[in-house]
Amino acid sequence: MHIAIVDSSRVVLKLIAGLLEPRGHVVELFTDSSEALDYLSRQPSVRALITSLEVRPIGGLELCWGSRLIGDANRPLSIIVMSSTRCTHTLAEALDSGADDFIEKPPSAEELHARLRAAERLTTMQAALIRLAETDPLTGLMNRRAFMSRAHEAVAHAGTSGNLSAVLLDIDHFKRINDAHGHDIGDEVIKAVATLISGKGIAGRLGGEEYALLLPERDLDKAMMVAERLRRRALGLRIPAEKGPVKLSCSFGVSTWRDGDTVDGLLKRADVALYEAKATGRDRVVASGMEQPLSKAS
Ligand code: GH3
Ligand code: MG
Ligand code: MG
Repeated sequence: MHIAIVDSSRVVLKLIAGLLEPRGHVVELFTDSSEALDYLSRQPSVRALITSLEVRPIGGLELCWGSRLIGDANRPLSIIVMSSTRCTHTLAEALDSGADDFIEKPPSAEELHARLRAAERLTTMQAALIRLAETDPLTGLMNRRAFMSRAHEAVAHAGTSGNLSAVLLDIDHFKRINDAHGHDIGDEVIKAVATLISGKGIAGRLGGEEYALLLPERDLDKAMMVAERLRRRALGLRIPAEKGPVKLSCSFGVSTWRDGDTVDGLLKRADVALYEAKATGRDRVVASGMEQPLSKAS
């Protein structure tokens, strides 16, 4: 497990590291609590924070709070407070400040390892629940909620500089595929299209047979090229079915980030373009603001 340890004494830090490293834990030591907090926010792989209460410049309780806020809903993190006084009031205060557990200072090897086994159980379960809550079970892509949350993060980066484009795509006449081949084959089609977009950017299944792809660092032209390649590849898919291989096509709407934009605005413009792609014949890519589709049905 990746563990950050904070204490004002290097001797205490070395003692704990000496107990943990031989067991295969990756340990990062801090005498400065604000450096520790900064490290935690930059290193999502840290699963446990062990801190004394008497640390500087941020006090131990405050460090618990700060770490809990970083950890909040989408970060598995166990916070263990270390203190030489096992007074009930201190313990209660630490737990109320976001700590999960308490350990005596200096900790005995046996207790430390047991507390960390408990932390590992808890954070492994948290990580699994987070993954479950963010993943569309059919395709393994992000679900709508996770996609929107990642989109807001991406926008925060694009907000000041750089490009960001959005592609919305929807399988054409998908109801006919379900009707002709059954729901199970319909599911296979949804999975096959998901495989095409997976890994191409920030990819999510927004619902039914509609997907979104966010492309950081791509301007409108580059995003149009990505969409056009996907359109051709979707057209080339053959999904095995009893009545013979199923063919399909997809329609695409593409938009790009502009100054003062929002995630909703960006996706809304892609949606309007997608609607136009559907209205003008499907199996095509339409850029937001462009009257003519880039590609016509072949
Ligand atoms: P268009 O070209 O205008 O997009 O037509 P369409 O038939 O693809 O679109 P519409 O939105 O009318 O139909 C989508 C259908 O997708 C309706 C719904 O029953 C089906 N669907 C939604 N989710 C799933 C799913 O998880 N699996 C399967 N097999 N079908 C689904
Ligand atoms: Mg459709
Ligand atoms: Mg649809």
